[in-house]
Amino acid sequence: MQEMINVVIVGGGAGGMEIATKLGHKLGKKNKARVTLIDCAESHVWKPLLHEVATGALDIGIDAISYRGHAAAHGYHFQQGAMTDIDRENKQVILAPILDEDGEELLPARRIDYTYLVIAIGSIANDFNIEGVRDHCVFLDSTEQAMEIRTMLLNKFMRYASHHQLDEKIKIAVVGAGATGVEMSAEMHHAVDQLRGFGYKIDTSLLEVTLIEADQRILPKVEKTEISDSVAKELTAIGVNVRTNTRIDAVTPEGLHTTTEEFIPADMVIWSTGVKAPDFLNEIGGLESNHINQVMVKQNMQTTRDSHIFAIGDCAACPQEDGSWVPPRGQSARQMALMTADNIRLMIDGQQPKHNYVYKDLGSLVNLSKFHTVGNLMSFMGGGVLVEGKIARFVYTSLYRRHLIELHGVFKGTLLMFAKGISRIIHPHLKLH
Ligand SMILES: Cc1cc2nc3c(=O)[nH]c(=O)nc-3n(C[C@H](O)[C@H](O)[C@H](O)COP(=O)(O)OP(=O)(O)OC[C@H]3O[C@@H](n4cnc5c(N)ncnc54)[C@H](O)[C@@H]3O)c2cc1C
Repeated sequence: MQEMINVVIVGGGAGGMEIATKLGHKLGKKNKARVTLIDCAESHVWKPLLHEVATGALDIGIDAISYRGHAAAHGYHFQQGAMTDIDRENKQVILAPILDEDGEELLPARRIDYTYLVIAIGSIANDFNIEGVRDHCVFLDSTEQAMEIRTMLLNKFMRYASHHQLDEKIKIAVVGAGATGVEMSAEMHHAVDQLRGFGYKIDTSLLEVTLIEADQRILPKVEKTEISDSVAKELTAIGVNVRTNTRIDAVTPEGLHTTTEEFIPADMVIWSTGVKAPDFLNEIGGLESNHINQVMVKQNMQTTRDSHIFAIGDCAACPQEDGSWVPPRGQSARQMALMTADNIRLMIDGQQPKHNYVYKDLGSLVNLSKFHTVGNLMSFMGGGVLVEGKIARFVYTSLYRRHLIELHGVFKGTLLMFAKGISRIIHPHLKLH
């Protein structure tokens, strides 16, 4: 009897969830292979929406997708657990034990066999080993961290609103003015606006958000300076204090110290500078990795030292022909996922994984909550068309729409978008508990 082929995907995010769904349909449902998705969480939340989870604008009770339920409907299996290592000799992924809130072991450490392995565990904010960052900042890397920020923010707002300490502002610093930092800054102003609808005596004049960027402009990775300028103008109009050319070299419980020996006081610091792959990926299982722990892959997404192990998304370092590297984006993660699924199917059929990944930049869009959306669309009129307002907002949400359609099919995915739209009309715009 022929041995069952095991395709194991670790990480059910923007990339991992799409490859598991595609292979579930193409292999799992047809009994051509056993497809297993592993994630440390129970449910999937689309990472580009985490800043909305962090302010309560998005209710994960409605938007999160249960891995187990989705796996059962789409032909793959789900195992909850955090990968800690890979045993390449025995072709096994090693998972940490699962503990309950009191530290009691619910599930022991496990080993999962693979024939083909896809590493898709994403990235975390890079603290650049700056003093005090890990101890005194909050991060927006996972749903748990977003929920933690939400609780901290709401507690602060409620305390201030009920004590009428209106002469003292809530000082929040956001370090790193990439898309995450920029969108988070705007979303906090929106959240305070919404709280007034719940009867809280609070308004945005009570909030002092300072967005700090070491580069000379915000959104430094976005090619078009018009976009940075437009976003900076809108943020300033909302009331965000935008500071460029400001480099932080230490964080304390009271605030931030800059390299020019200035002190910026802050009640809360959200750290969103750059990304790196989780530290344990560095040389995991003897695989090659780069200075930010990303696993080195070839353009067909096979890791450089093991043709049966692939890496995709933010945790992979994928070279391009012009010598550049694929940027860590939702759009690249899903493009890599769909292509890698085809390469694995080719290998199962005894062929070469011939598809090579070429990054297609569909454009960069930045959404400042209800205030403004702006960006450029690369796929129109030869590329680089600047869009703003409702059209930009529509295109911004299309990345999420495509993700939902990939996960649920055209009919259910479109219905879900409508249902979410209706839910936003009939439910409060903020989740308070
Ligand atoms: C606030 C915010 C806004 C963003 N906006 C945009 C945008 O507008 N456009 C865009 O293109 N990109 C955007 N991004 C970037 C985008 O979210 C990422 O590039 C994308 O999610 C990467 O996909 P991925 O599959 O590599 O990883 P992720 O989507 O991060 O998924 C990683 C998965 O791995 C799991 N995992 C992690 N460690 C382990 C482990 N040890 N064992 C098992 N499972 C593990 C996690 O639970 C998670 O489910 C944004 C990011 C943030 C934070």
